[in-house]
Amino acid sequence: MAVELAPGPQVAELASRTAEFVREIVIPIEVEHGGVVRDEAVRLELQDAAKAAGVFAPHVGAEFGGHGLDMRSRAVVFEEAGYSLLGPLALNIAAPDEGNMHMLEIIATDRQKERYLRPLAAGAVRSCFAMTEPAPGAGSDPAALKTRAVRAEGGWRIDGRKWFITGADGAGFAICMARTSDQAAVSTGAAGSVSTGAAGATMFLVDADNPGMKIVRHIDTLDESLYGGHLEVAFEECFVSDDAVLGEVDGGFRYAQVRLGPARMTHCMRWLGIARRAQDIAVARAAERELFGSRLGELGMVQQMIADNEIDIAASRGLIRQACWELDQGRSAGQATSIAKTFCAEAIWRVVDRSLQICGSLGVSGDVLLSRFLREVRPFRIYDGPSEAHRWSIARRVLRHHDGQR
Ligand SMILES: Cc1cc2nc3c(=O)[nH]c(=O)nc-3n(C[C@H](O)[C@H](O)[C@H](O)COP(=O)(O)OP(=O)(O)OC[C@H]3O[C@@H](n4cnc5c(N)ncnc54)[C@H](O)[C@@H]3O)c2cc1C
Repeated sequence: MAVELAPGPQVAELASRTAEFVREIVIPIEVEHGGVVRDEAVRLELQDAAKAAGVFAPHVGAEFGGHGLDMRSRAVVFEEAGYSLLGPLALNIAAPDEGNMHMLEIIATDRQKERYLRPLAAGAVRSCFAMTEPAPGAGSDPAALKTRAVRAEGGWRIDGRKWFITGADGAGFAICMARTSDQAAVSTGAAGSVSTGAAGATMFLVDADNPGMKIVRHIDTLDESLYGGHLEVAFEECFVSDDAVLGEVDGGFRYAQVRLGPARMTHCMRWLGIARRAQDIAVARAAERELFGSRLGELGMVQQMIADNEIDIAASRGLIRQACWELDQGRSAGQATSIAKTFCAEAIWRVVDRSLQICGSLGVSGDVLLSRFLREVRPFRIYDGPSEAHRWSIARRVLRHHDGQR
């Protein structure tokens, strides 16, 4: 089957409108705030502007106010939004809300969609996704899940502790993953790549005003731009009714695949936008700075860094679009998303790092946002599956394929 990667005219037009919106409206606000916004008024101002520009929530279906883009189309539009740290927030396609909307649209009941997806898609509330736990709980290995939900009259009682839950402070609700059966899941790899036949976990929709869900602390982290920060959250005798179950009981690991594969790719798309921005800043500097009797950009080692950036950006884009094409065909695309995620997370880091190097001391100053970008992209080599966990999965699939051929 031919792989069709080029966007159609409507998507190309939306991408170009998004690029203009980011350039004209978002970047001035980003620069004013140093790329980090903690203020609801600014979030709403950005989102109102995106609505007015007709670029808001491009990923959700028209019935929820969006453009219903498939994964390949998202790749084009999200990259443009990601050109600013605040572009994804403005378009309501930032993590974790975007991944949660994707999953709710596919799995939630009609009632759950009205109650949770509709306000989330409109930007009226935010959400969080609570899977990772402090050691010895779930991290790279989701099968280590310790948070437990047990049957209680009329529903379930959840107990456990989660951490690194992005956006939990101020979120309207959480999607919490808890163990509901002792049948152990079998890990096959990177964060969430669990044998889909294995039972054991269930996803629950937990309203933030539930007295059993408590914010423990804000975790001080290298990155700061993901809205709401990263939180430690306790679930203590947290009672939820039966209609809080998202999908089927014990189907949690299977549903995690619905979220994690596409969410890996949308992270890559957004951070690819930042890599392009870093390269544009570096190229502008290389074109104007005079050094040793020539322009910086005429020195061979600088040209090599510029060329390597272009190669990393182009290769990342190609791998994202290939994996998105597979996802659009309804495939799980486990191998393609692992390859793309690992490559992009490392390539995007390299691009930002080289760009900062080209700019010299200017690069580490607050006068350009390169040092902020560097801090923001580094954790991407850890979340959505660390590079090592993905390499482990990739190699195991290759070996299984080899064994199957013998
Ligand atoms: C900025 C940020 C935001 C996050 N947001 C969320 C969120 O919103 N919700 C949520 O649930 N979680 C979130 N996480 C957690 C994230 O998903 C986990 O950090 C990730 O799954 C890794 O788990 P861990 O941190 O427990 O590392 P561990 O599982 O302890 O792994 C530590 C290291 O071990 C190595 N390793 C892992 N597996 C293998 C392997 N198979 N072979 C060889 N080496 C390996 C890797 O180097 C890895 O970095 C976030 C994390 C960060 C950093």
